[in-house]
Amino acid sequence: MAVSDHVDLPTFMEGVKKRNPYQPEFVQAVQEVAEDIFEFMQDKEEYHSQQILRRIAEPDRVVSFRVCWEDDNGNIRVQRGWRVQNNNAIGPYKGGIRFHPSVTESVLKFLAFEQTFKNALTGLPMGGGKGGSNFNPKGKSVREIMRFCQSFMTELYRHIGADIDVPAGDIGVGGREIGYMFGQYKRITNNFTGVLTGKGLEWGGSLIRTEATGYGAVYFLANMLATKGEDLTGKTAVISGSGNVATHAAEKIVQLGGKVLTLSDSGGYIHDPDGIDQEKIDWVKTHKTHRRGRIEDYVAAFPKATFVAGKTPWGVPCDVALPCATQNELLGDDARALIANGCKAVAEGANMPTDLDGVHVFKAAKILYAPGKASNAGGVAVSGLEMSQNSERRSWKEEELQQMLKDIMAGIHKSCLAYGDQGGGYIDYVKGANIAGFKKVADAMLAFGVV
Ligand code: NAP
Repeated sequence: MAVSDHVDLPTFMEGVKKRNPYQPEFVQAVQEVAEDIFEFMQDKEEYHSQQILRRIAEPDRVVSFRVCWEDDNGNIRVQRGWRVQNNNAIGPYKGGIRFHPSVTESVLKFLAFEQTFKNALTGLPMGGGKGGSNFNPKGKSVREIMRFCQSFMTELYRHIGADIDVPAGDIGVGGREIGYMFGQYKRITNNFTGVLTGKGLEWGGSLIRTEATGYGAVYFLANMLATKGEDLTGKTAVISGSGNVATHAAEKIVQLGGKVLTLSDSGGYIHDPDGIDQEKIDWVKTHKTHRRGRIEDYVAAFPKATFVAGKTPWGVPCDVALPCATQNELLGDDARALIANGCKAVAEGANMPTDLDGVHVFKAAKILYAPGKASNAGGVAVSGLEMSQNSERRSWKEEELQQMLKDIMAGIHKSCLAYGDQGGGYIDYVKGANIAGFKKVADAMLAFGVV
């Protein structure tokens, strides 16, 4: 027995910090998982001796590359691109591509690490990966975005494949960008294959992929409320973000009888005391996604609303909260404010939107709190279903897919209960998700030996 493998949590985290200097987001994500996994592994010698967590916290590979493109004025621009392939123990690498100026290797490593557990929770055969670039799509022309996507894929294509690594969209990458990247992949390889998900319906995409992350997060929230004998009827919801995840979460809250009070973007948040109904959500979708506008313009269209510049919406009293914008957008004080104002449940639509302090506040208050790796897994789940449809060369019906999404979210909720039920009516969803996701990947890794 390798006694030296039995390091304690602080020593393990010291090693992670030392090996990943200047990567705070990655260290934060590993810490959040390790806190639960160390407790779970206490009496499981094999996971220790085989260094399973240490191996999952070391990506299989990180590919970094230059992306050169020409802007509309003929200037040569140079960006950095990455693909992080974290772990493929249970299936091909799978995870989105993010285009945002805040993208760094640390951000993508944290996302790929989280994705590994999330994908395992869906029950589908998908490993964990993530990619992206520090390219800022804001203010770029459509032609510039096309040229950038083509240049990005001109390098990425060598590292991906339908049975190797299947990227999707994320912040700054929607259907249009997936189209440009898929077109370039097909052109270079002369191969029409399910190498990306989030594709258009005419060329291999799946129904409900666009809606799946936001809808799934609300299904998960409804599952959590049901453990207390409650539902969303008449509940007020505070949501951050105004992109794909936020607008579809808002839509499903409204469909299930709730009232959405806020949406936001990087400029601030809008508060509409009358509620953001379907008509207003459609306005936001058109304004933000198609016209690339700002959320502050909402108040001109709907004058009863107010815009608060430079702030997040967590001070607005609500029954439920859904952070759906980006990482570390809900801090410890925000969590305390939500609880003081009577918030009963938080379901993360974004990845790691709550910082470690905030996570500890929610856990200590014992509210219903779902980490993104559980509650936002609906998107990648339907991506997994898109892969299956591509392999079969057929398309499933919308009703079938809606039911599959609901069933998958209910299944993830059940897995969280299996490992997170603390007794006395309290479910630690963070612990449940971490352990259920870890166990599946870890057991596959044990079967492969030391590779
Ligand atoms: P999106 O459509 O690009 O929308 C992102 C939204 O977040 C926009 O409203 C954006 O505001 C806001 N935002 C981005 N960076 C911000 C920052 N630094 N500060 C404040 N606001 C910021 O992206 P999305 O697909 O909805 O993704 C949102 C989150 O969900 C991300 O954490 C993503 O990883 C996660 N997620 C997405 C999926 C999916 O299927 N799309 C699946 C699982 C998880 P601006 O317009 O001002 O930039």
